[in-house]
Amino acid sequence: MTPPRTRVTCTFGFEAAHRLAWHPGKCRNLHGHSYRLDVSVEGPLDANGVVLDFDTLQDVVRSQVIDQWDHRDLNDVMDNPTAELLAQRAWELLTEAGLPLAALRLWETTDSWVDLSPATGD
Ligand SMILES: [Zn+2]
Repeated sequence: MTPPRTRVTCTFGFEAAHRLAWHPGKCRNLHGHSYRLDVSVEGPLDANGVVLDFDTLQDVVRSQVIDQWDHRDLNDVMDNPTAELLAQRAWELLTEAGLPLAALRLWETTDSWVDLSPATGD
């Protein structure tokens, strides 16, 4: 029997400020969010029976993204820090760090989030 596809997820939180210069409403003013980031990796199990050790996943996401963005003005990180572009930047950083990403979800508020999945045709 082929084993089922196995996905492992860790969730993280960070606090940051941003403003969206193009926005017609309140988002053009500097304001903050309690962001949440869910990072999922997928792949075959290794000899230890894990896709990736949770500790390793946490270390990579913290060092590459959370430590860079927590308590920052995200307009210093990128020109137009929308949730979509932040999620894409996180995807890029984590892929460059070698994570086999299957999904990434960035929550800007408790009822609004962005979902990314691998591009097809790559
Ligand atoms: Zn905002």
